[in-house]
Amino acid sequence: MDGKIKLLPILLFGLYAVWYFFDHRQTVPITGRKHLVDINPTQEAAMGLQSYQQVLHESQVAPASSKLVQTVRSVGERLAKVSEDPGYQWDFNVLVSDQVNAFCLPGGKVAVYTGIIPVAKTDDGLAIVMGHEIAHAIARHGAERMAQQKLVQMGEIAAGVAMSSMDSTKQQGIMVALGLGAQYGILLPFSREHESEADHMGLVFATRACFDPEEAPKVWERMAAMSHGQPNQFMSTHPSHETRIQQFGKWMPEALEIKRKNCSN
Ligand SMILES: [Zn+2]
Repeated sequence: MDGKIKLLPILLFGLYAVWYFFDHRQTVPITGRKHLVDINPTQEAAMGLQSYQQVLHESQVAPASSKLVQTVRSVGERLAKVSEDPGYQWDFNVLVSDQVNAFCLPGGKVAVYTGIIPVAKTDDGLAIVMGHEIAHAIARHGAERMAQQKLVQMGEIAAGVAMSSMDSTKQQGIMVALGLGAQYGILLPFSREHESEADHMGLVFATRACFDPEEAPKVWERMAAMSHGQPNQFMSTHPSHETRIQQFGKWMPEALEIKRKNCSN
């Protein structure tokens, strides 16, 4: 049997998704973007803490006495103070690893891998890297992604119901297409938007803490020089290095104004 698509389940899902967004939308500090977040900060911080403890447990954590850890902590604390902190329990650690990486989990749990230190190069560069990671947590990008994935899954269920009287091979084909559409049309563009937002907010935090904003494009140039053969922008969750550097140019006047107002030297 090859029936038609039922429109009612799609319509109901569409209405529900719109209602859900407006009922749960929050505003990202600094950029003012409205986004969907449907868990509370306490739940989010608990998940962050659990992942953080697990990573620390599985990694080689640099001793608190090391010069690098002291630098990371002092840069981190300066950033946290100006980061629109909603009351996080901040924690900063250095993980001994070649990985060119750093992260900030919900609730303010920050780790910097030793592998990213040559890219950061200076305290100003470190502030750009850490500011970016802290911005992801302040903007609650992880929770937003979870909410989006939940809605995408519900949409797929609605599509399944809508197609229930169709031929099953045809159904499968459409489901695969919808899955790809959601991935490339919704989830990946949002990931890139999150990266740009974290770059922007991180630049503001670093500048408010009186680090040099003009170090930002240089950090990403060093990153580009280190990571050869990056996947193209459409496929990747990150904006290309070129886009990134161009965007910093756009935000630089705002940053220099913050610097002029807050940091006399
Ligand atoms: Zn990022």
